[in-house]
Amino acid sequence: MTDTDTADVEATVNQTKLLAEAGSELVRVTVNNSEAAGAVPEIRKRLDDEGCRVPIIGDFHFIGHRLLRDHPDCARTLAKFRINPGNVGRGNRRDENFTSFIEVARDLNKPVRIGVNAGSLDQELLVEKMDANARRSQPLSGDEVEREALVESALRSRDEAVSIGLGEDRIIISCKVSRLSQMVAAYRELSRKTDAPLHLGLTEAGMGTKGVVATTAALSILLEAGIGDTIRSSLTPEPGGDRAREVRLCQEILQALGLRSFRPAVTACPGCGRTTSTFFRELAQDIQEHLDNRMSVWKQEFPGVSDMTVAVMGCVVNGPGESRAANVGISLPGTGEMPRAPVFVDGERAGFLQGESIADDFVSIVEEYVTTHYAYGVSESGAAPE
Ligand code: SF4
Repeated sequence: MTDTDTADVEATVNQTKLLAEAGSELVRVTVNNSEAAGAVPEIRKRLDDEGCRVPIIGDFHFIGHRLLRDHPDCARTLAKFRINPGNVGRGNRRDENFTSFIEVARDLNKPVRIGVNAGSLDQELLVEKMDANARRSQPLSGDEVEREALVESALRSRDEAVSIGLGEDRIIISCKVSRLSQMVAAYRELSRKTDAPLHLGLTEAGMGTKGVVATTAALSILLEAGIGDTIRSSLTPEPGGDRAREVRLCQEILQALGLRSFRPAVTACPGCGRTTSTFFRELAQDIQEHLDNRMSVWKQEFPGVSDMTVAVMGCVVNGPGESRAANVGISLPGTGEMPRAPVFVDGERAGFLQGESIADDFVSIVEEYVTTHYAYGVSESGAAPE
């Protein structure tokens, strides 16, 4: 999701491109006022002009029904609308606003994500659930009641949208919570109660390692259980930080789980007393950077290269084993070992490297592997067809 002022067309176009180039397959923008809604068609046009086709999703709260009605070009331009059922008003006004919003989506045949969030949970529904809980002979815990309300808010809104005429296949659901166990439990319950596609996210995951670890844990538990159709990581960037980090985190999670692959993976050992040199760390970093830098070209020219694995290991203990398991691997000499490094290609020892040029020579071997194994027309065995 962008964090620019959507009314600032240039900034939003630039950040959308940044996210798309990092690999985001859907980009959500805030549509919070008339200026933002008015800017959306121009944002789409500029992206199209620059060859960036990523779908743009509009994030609406409070006055989304009015913005969609007053800015039909914005409504037509957006690929999907997100509505938060906790932020559309109270009582009858809520029903009118929700209906008006869904009618626009229905008439344009647009998908809608019903995006419930614990931080903006429908308070009337929560009170209703708490009252009902108080009458139970064995009341549920506060978390359980909140979870009931989260899930029911999503499902009631889904049913309401269907009754207004939005196709069931046009509805995506999310139930975001910032507390991991509550978030996971809510999605587990949702997945038991609906077949609708689910968008996963640990909302407000926070900054730094904490945000990365919490997001990874939450999404991994659910994805490993087969729950979830789209994902987002809600990291808070450091001041001046890179917004696309949230995209790379999602890719890393999907790749680590074996669900998608985005770039070749480098297996590197952590190092220990058997290798006092920092050379293998530097080589591992150089290789990772080389692979990252080359991916933009490789992914056009060498389909399947993202599945390649490369190992950079520090000594003979695990080095040969891990290097054999990778497509291309090098086992650097640890302290006291002969100063030469065996290189393995597809499990077979392909020779030794030594001297000052080990890093460059290993990069050349990786490059050659890519061109001989992933070029169009090269068979799975790596042999070019005759
Ligand atoms: S491969 Fe060797 S250097 Fe690396 S962690 Fe294992 S024992 Fe230590």
